[in-house]
Amino acid sequence: MPKVSHDMLIKVARVVGGEDAVKIVEALSQADEMTEEDIVAKTGVKLNDARKILYKLYEHSIVGLRRTRDKDTGWFIFYWRVQTDQIEGFIIGQKKRVLEKLEARLEYEKSHDFYYCYTPGCRRMTFEEATEYIFRCPVCNKPLTHYDNSKIIENLTKKIERIKSELNG
Ligand SMILES: [Zn+2]
Repeated sequence: MPKVSHDMLIKVARVVGGEDAVKIVEALSQADEMTEEDIVAKTGVKLNDARKILYKLYEHSIVGLRRTRDKDTGWFIFYWRVQTDQIEGFIIGQKKRVLEKLEARLEYEKSHDFYYCYTPGCRRMTFEEATEYIFRCPVCNKPLTHYDNSKIIENLTKKIERIKSELNG
């Protein structure tokens, strides 16, 4: 596996299932496939925890699964493997979700006028809210004055452009 994809794989594993998921993915990436028992033996993660993490990773298609039936016991044996080719899809999906949130936030900033008392810890208000409080902060009682959000809009626009170019690149 190329180093970049491996680093990405580890990052994604950490996001999905924390440090135990990192251990599991590290172990899996050194083998073609592993049974749950192999994974437990190799990582020291408890079987129940390992299973939970494996299914979480599976939901995101980061690991794949093959099963066979044990001839003697009749039970299923699961063989797990990492699916490196799915990592990119996962990351694209995450970026799209972030992009949607940022675009909604930008729309909100653009479509509202804000008023602020400029006291640290107090929050900005929309024009409609400020009117309700007759332009006085209900927390600190200072007057609410117009808040210029052009810097926020500029930053959001830059972030959105960066993610869009990453998605298209
Ligand atoms: Zn205030």
